[in-house]
Amino acid sequence: MNILVINCGSSSLKYQLIDSESENVLAKGLVERIGIEGSCITHTPAGRDKVVKTQPMQDHNEAVKLVIEALIDPEHGVIKSLSEIGAVGHRVVHGGEKFKTAVKIDDSVIKDIEDLSSLAPLHNPANLIGIRACAENMPGVPQAAVFDTAFHQTMPKKAYMYGLPYEYYEKYKVRRYGFHGTSHDYVSSRVGEILGKDRKDLKIIVCHLGNGASISAVKNGECVDTSMGLTPLEGLIMGTRSGDLDPAILDFICEKEGLSSHEMNTVLNKKSGVLGLSGGVSSDFRDLSAAANDGNELAKTALETYCYRVAKYIGSYTMAMQGVDVIAFTAGIGENAADVREGVCGYLKYMGVEIDADANKKRGEEITLSTADSKVKVMVVPTNEELSIARQTLAIL
Ligand code: ADP
Repeated sequence: MNILVINCGSSSLKYQLIDSESENVLAKGLVERIGIEGSCITHTPAGRDKVVKTQPMQDHNEAVKLVIEALIDPEHGVIKSLSEIGAVGHRVVHGGEKFKTAVKIDDSVIKDIEDLSSLAPLHNPANLIGIRACAENMPGVPQAAVFDTAFHQTMPKKAYMYGLPYEYYEKYKVRRYGFHGTSHDYVSSRVGEILGKDRKDLKIIVCHLGNGASISAVKNGECVDTSMGLTPLEGLIMGTRSGDLDPAILDFICEKEGLSSHEMNTVLNKKSGVLGLSGGVSSDFRDLSAAANDGNELAKTALETYCYRVAKYIGSYTMAMQGVDVIAFTAGIGENAADVREGVCGYLKYMGVEIDADANKKRGEEITLSTADSKVKVMVVPTNEELSIARQTLAIL
């Protein structure tokens, strides 16, 4: 069965058509600037060149129509008709406490995702627009919602509660949810497969280091803690997001700089992280490493602070699981940035972590970094959230 995987943002839509039997990607693409001037679709059929088409489109409905047209196009398409799409799997950011697994979408699920929008006001409404656009353009094709938060729902209460008045949890469900769940789930499963073990017998720390970054402790196949919180702002230092900080800083800076809480929120999400810390050098680790190698002291500080924070979380999750068997790096930085992996692992020598410098030079493939003597296995496992969404869609439909 062919499964169309959709990741819908407020003005963009990413898609992949995956053959669930072979697990091959038949085509993938991106629709950008939906409803904005200059909207375009970039469609890449497997093994062929990408096709870019600039065309005005008012809304996501038109975007989904264009995706279907591209998929069945006689020249660039990969299927003959819509009937060859057996199901659609949607990435949905926030499933709250309600959704602990992926679900088949019906009216009540749509209502629940809508109700959860206050927890993810930028994401859930956009995800719903994608769901509705697919329902309209592909009537009768079953759809599934795969939640970013679901994998973390196994966390114990002590890991997800904040030290705040309990009534905020009762009234507003303020607690840690965690994100990137599909990636943490996929990577920890893959670690088990690569090692020929059941992940139920392993203690794994997954470091998902992309533009957004999060880390999770997966003990016996279940997430027991993760670094992102009520929103994806908490935890590690990210490209442009601050991660953990003293909450009193917010008020302090607002007063000093005359910022509103909304403006402060923008600073924390868009102007902080390694971009802010490096004095504006870049949020991209390729630029940061280049600047650091050229002697830029702030870029060096940003990289050091970043690695230190990741290592600090690894230390605390080792405690949470009372040990660790495998540390797995994934996502853009985890899969590619050898200097970050080296920097992080440098702090872990005390627990017997040793990595092989030559293995660490490789990029973007499944690699075992640790030496034969290392007390903990260290691996790079490229993530594949789309494949995981397709698998989960197939499983529930
Ligand atoms: P997201 O999915 O969160 O947008 P990705 O997982 O694609 O992000 O990660 C993107 C980041 O990965 C880039 O901003 C960059 O910092 C980093 N990155 C990508 N390629 C490399 C590379 N070759 N070396 C170092 N860092 C890289």
